[in-house]
Amino acid sequence: MQLGSQQETIRAVNRTIRDFADDPRIPPNEPWEFFCECGCFTLVTLTVAEFDTASHVWVEGHEASLLSA
Ligand SMILES: [Zn+2]
Repeated sequence: MQLGSQQETIRAVNRTIRDFADDPRIPPNEPWEFFCECGCFTLVTLTVAEFDTASHVWVEGHEASLLSA
């Protein structure tokens, strides 16, 4: 499996979750589960504000393993 395209798929899924969370009836501090972008599919709990602030969604330490790959 090609890692780059898998990351793109995960980012697209995360954006879909983000769009779904963008509902005025949902409190802004509601935690949502996004997927780690390294491709491991571990769930990362973030609020919408945290997701918007973060440029990437990673489990702690997974970014390093991706960069060294
Ligand atoms: Zn990961």
